[in-house]
Amino acid sequence: MEISLQDLTRPTERRLPGGWARLSFDVSLMSEEDLEKLFEAQQILNEIGIHFDSGTGGGRRDWELDWSLTGAIIEVRPFRCMQCEHLPLDFPLFVHWQSPGFAIYTYTYCDQSCLERARPGYEKSGWSVLTIETGRTA
Ligand SMILES: [Zn+2]
Repeated sequence: MEISLQDLTRPTERRLPGGWARLSFDVSLMSEEDLEKLFEAQQILNEIGIHFDSGTGGGRRDWELDWSLTGAIIEVRPFRCMQCEHLPLDFPLFVHWQSPGFAIYTYTYCDQSCLERARPGYEKSGWSVLTIETGRTA
């Protein structure tokens, strides 16, 4: 079957991403067993209809979550302050909380003052701050 330019430019029903992401794994220090599990994870996703381009090089295994992705979509959301809902955060405070059940959650805040306003409520429920990091996003 011949494909014309018109066929290639026809609007598609498929929802295309507004951006793309690369899930990049450092495989340089991975054991052979762990590397096999990584490939197996991708194979399992393929078996349930989720496909994407991938590649290996420079000690990394990359999953290209771009226009090649089918069977799932990428949803990228900006960081928002958990206290005042400010959005987007360019220099968020990443706070790693530990719940009473010892699960670890990372929430973002504008700055120390928003964290301090949130802290009493969490601590009353048995949560504690493990670590705080700052970082520039994107
Ligand atoms: Zn805030």
